[in-house]
Amino acid sequence: MKKVHNFYAGPSILPEFTIEETIKAIKDFAGTGVSLMSVSHRSKEFDAVMREAETLFKELLNIPEGYSVIFVGGGASTQFAMVPYNLLNKKAFYVDSGVWASKAIKEAKIFGEIAMVSSKDKNYAYVPKGYEIPLDADYIHITTNNTIYGTELRKDINSPIPLVADMSSDILSRPVDVSKYALIYGGAQKNLGPAGVTFVIIKKDILGKVSRPLPSMLNYATHVENGSMYNTPPCVDVYALLQTLKWLKAQGGVKEMEKRNIEKAQILYDAIDNSKIFVGTAQKEDRSLMNICFVLKEEYKSFEEDFLKFAKEKNLVGLKGHRSVGGFRASTYNALPKESVIALVDAMKEFESKH
Ligand SMILES: *Cc1c(COP(=O)(O)O)cnc(C)c1O
Repeated sequence: MKKVHNFYAGPSILPEFTIEETIKAIKDFAGTGVSLMSVSHRSKEFDAVMREAETLFKELLNIPEGYSVIFVGGGASTQFAMVPYNLLNKKAFYVDSGVWASKAIKEAKIFGEIAMVSSKDKNYAYVPKGYEIPLDADYIHITTNNTIYGTELRKDINSPIPLVADMSSDILSRPVDVSKYALIYGGAQKNLGPAGVTFVIIKKDILGKVSRPLPSMLNYATHVENGSMYNTPPCVDVYALLQTLKWLKAQGGVKEMEKRNIEKAQILYDAIDNSKIFVGTAQKEDRSLMNICFVLKEEYKSFEEDFLKFAKEKNLVGLKGHRSVGGFRASTYNALPKESVIALVDAMKEFESKH
């Protein structure tokens, strides 16, 4: 197989370990002689996978007592609706820091009144700050990493009302003080596993406070009470996610990930800031460690396609920026090695010297 440097934003790079172990289990799961794709989710072998994923997730993020971790289908986008369905009585407060946040707002509006702050005025190049959280809202919703715009909120904010966070693209990239949150969710396909499984961390005492009837599958309590086995879970995805958790633990956990992510991002941001032709798009104080967005300066704009082609020749893939920002986006998730970032920086310098 061709060796490439994978900068895709999602689905995205996974540890070799995750892929290799999952392939083995797809052929013969836990010595059962049956493929992971063909084994009952009620078997004791698969049940052990689900329980271990739950336990390890709690261990790695240091999740305190009183919280449940569930794995469900539907992607983070289903959570955009499940959060207000389960938590919104009258009013909620949303921080509109990007396209994903605004999609969450669209769903929440179905269920009640939404107050918000937004950074749309600058094409989401910064994370809104200094706002007052209304005390009469049922919860505040934030997006910690804005995958499309390359901005990130890297500290855990203090909130007087329940704090809900979409952490799809930065979960397990750094330590998080989970006790400050009421609920954290995200799709797996950015930092954890293949698309198809979604994690939700729920503080149990926030449930049961809305009066509307909830369909079973859209009720968090159903999944909490049934240990994510109310219906058939995405078994292969959960297995792969567990392998990533094992890999992460063996690497030294979230502290080590944070250290590596800071180092990788520093190398790339330094290259961007010292370049004569490239320039970053996010405001410096809010720059993401996971998705690094940059464009060609105005006078070099016509070379955009050329750079992508040049990068591809050097086996650097997935660098095309999202259409709403343009230019380039290098996603530097946990599994991306430093060597890939160095290869990209080398390519940028070589390209620059030619133009
Ligand atoms: C990718 C992404 C989503 C959407 O996830 P799906 O699993 O495709 O629904 C939501 N929020 C953020 C921050 C994302 O990066």
